[in-house]
Amino acid sequence: MEWGQIILLSIWLLLMVDVCRTAGMEPSLKIMSRRKVLVISLDGFGHHYLDKYPWRYLATNLYSAGSYPRKFRNQFVTKTFPNHFSVATGLYEEVHGVIGNNIYDSSLNKTFGMDDKELFMQNPLVSPVWTLNEEHGGHSGCIMWPGCGVAYRGKNVTFLSPFHQHALFNESIDKSIEWFTNERTPANLIFLYHEEPDHVGHIYGPNSSQVEEELRKIDEGIGYLYQMLTVHKLRDTVDVIVMSDHGMSAVKEENVIFLDDIVDSSLYHISGTSPLLNVWTTFEKQLEVYSSLLEGSRTHNYTVYLKEDPQFLAWHYSKNTRISQISILAAEGYVFKDFKNYIDYMKKKGATDLTDTHGNHGYPVDIPNMEPIFVAAGPSFKRGFKAPDFSNIDTYMLLCHLLNLAPGPNNGTADNISSILVEPISSTLIRPLSVTLGCLVALLGLIGILACALTKKEKHRPVSAESLINGYVHRKTMRGQRREPLQDVSEEECLLDANIIDEV
Ligand SMILES: [Zn+2]
Repeated sequence: MEWGQIILLSIWLLLMVDVCRTAGMEPSLKIMSRRKVLVISLDGFGHHYLDKYPWRYLATNLYSAGSYPRKFRNQFVTKTFPNHFSVATGLYEEVHGVIGNNIYDSSLNKTFGMDDKELFMQNPLVSPVWTLNEEHGGHSGCIMWPGCGVAYRGKNVTFLSPFHQHALFNESIDKSIEWFTNERTPANLIFLYHEEPDHVGHIYGPNSSQVEEELRKIDEGIGYLYQMLTVHKLRDTVDVIVMSDHGMSAVKEENVIFLDDIVDSSLYHISGTSPLLNVWTTFEKQLEVYSSLLEGSRTHNYTVYLKEDPQFLAWHYSKNTRISQISILAAEGYVFKDFKNYIDYMKKKGATDLTDTHGNHGYPVDIPNMEPIFVAAGPSFKRGFKAPDFSNIDTYMLLCHLLNLAPGPNNGTADNISSILVEPISSTLIRPLSVTLGCLVALLGLIGILACALTKKEKHRPVSAESLINGYVHRKTMRGQRREPLQDVSEEECLLDANIIDEV
C-alpha cells in the first residue's frame, strides 16, 4: 500500500470516529440543551410540616409525580444564608465562608450582615451554579436567593430580583415564567427564594394557625405554578425542585438565656444569632471567659464548644477565621437575649395576636425539627420514587448534571442524588464514552493492519547495532522507573487544605 493511500484511509477513519462519537452523544445533549431548571426554596419549611397540612398540589404535582429522599440533610449552622449558599456552591459552610446570617471576620476585623456582599466573598474559588451556567452560555435568574446578587469571577446573572419583604409567591412564579419565556435571553436556570413560612414561624411558632395559613398559600402557589407551566407549554422541559433550608422549633418566652448573668460582658463580644453565638475575646481573657461560660452551662440550657471540638469538626463548622475559638449553642427550644430583642422589635412594629410561644432554628442537623424538605419533579426525574438520604450540598452536582456543566470543586457527591434521575449521571457519561471507545478500538485495529502492511514492505531495511542498543537502554530505563504511589487524598481534604481558609 502506498503512503498516499494510507494517509487518505487514515483521514477517512478519523472522520468515521467523529461520526460515531456524535451519534452516541446527540440524544443526551439535545435533551440537556432544551432543559430548564427551577429551584424553589421555601425558607423554614420543616419536614414536619408535611404532616401538618392536607397538601393538594404539593402532593400531586411534586411528591407523587417526582422523587424525594428518605432524609434530606442540611448544614450546621441550620440558618438561611449559610444553607442557601451551600446549595448553590456544593460547599460546607466552613469552606464557602458564610457561617451565619451575620458574621465577624477576625482576619479583616470587620462585621458583615445580610446586606453586605462581602459576606459571600471570602473564598474566591466558589463556583455557584448560576455563574457556571452563565459562563457556559446559559441564562440564570435569581429571585431573592442569598448570595446571587454578587458577581463571581466577574459574572452577574442575567436576571436578578433583589430581596423585598412580603414578596408574594405567585408574583415570583410569574417572574420565573417571564424569564423562562424571554425571547432574547430565555433563562434555563432560576433560583426562587420565598421567605415563608420562616417569617411567621419565628413570630408565632411552628404550631400556629399563621404558619398553617402560609402553608395553604404555598400549596396554592404550587398549583398556580403548574397551571402556568401548562399554559406556557413548559411542562415537558422544566424540571422543578422544591426544597427548604431548615425547619423550625418552638421557643417559649421563658426560655431566654441571659449571658450577662453568666459572664462579664466587658470581656467579650458576640457575632451570630441564637441559638449559636460566636464568642470573641482576646487571648489573655480567653480562659476566664471559657471558664465562666462552662460554669454557666451547668445551670443553663446551652453547650460551650471550642473551635476544634470533635463535634464542630464533624459538622464541618470549624476551619474558618470567621468561626471564633469559643462558641455557645443553646439547646433546642432555648435562645439567647438577641432573640428576645427580635421579638420585642416585632411587637413594636405592630405584630398582633402574639402568644408566649415563638419559633427559631439554627440547632444541630440531627434534631428532627431542623430537617428540611426536597422534592424534584419533571422530565428528568423518576415518578413517586423515594431515594436514599442525600445532602443539600449534593444538589450542586445534580444541577450541574441537569445543565450539562462541569462542576467546580465541591464537597458534594452524586452517589445517592443521581438515583432520582430517569437517566442516572453515570450512564449519561458512560454511553457516549462507550460508543467512542468502540470506534477507537476499531480504528486502532485498522491502523494495526496498516502498520503490518507497512512493516512487511520495510522489513528488509537494515537495522543498525547502535539503534538496537539505544532501544534496549531506553526500554531498560523505562522499566527501572517506579512512580511513587499517589496519596489517597479525598476531594474534601484537598478543599480544606488548599490554604483557602487560613489565608483570607
Ligand atoms: Zn429564620
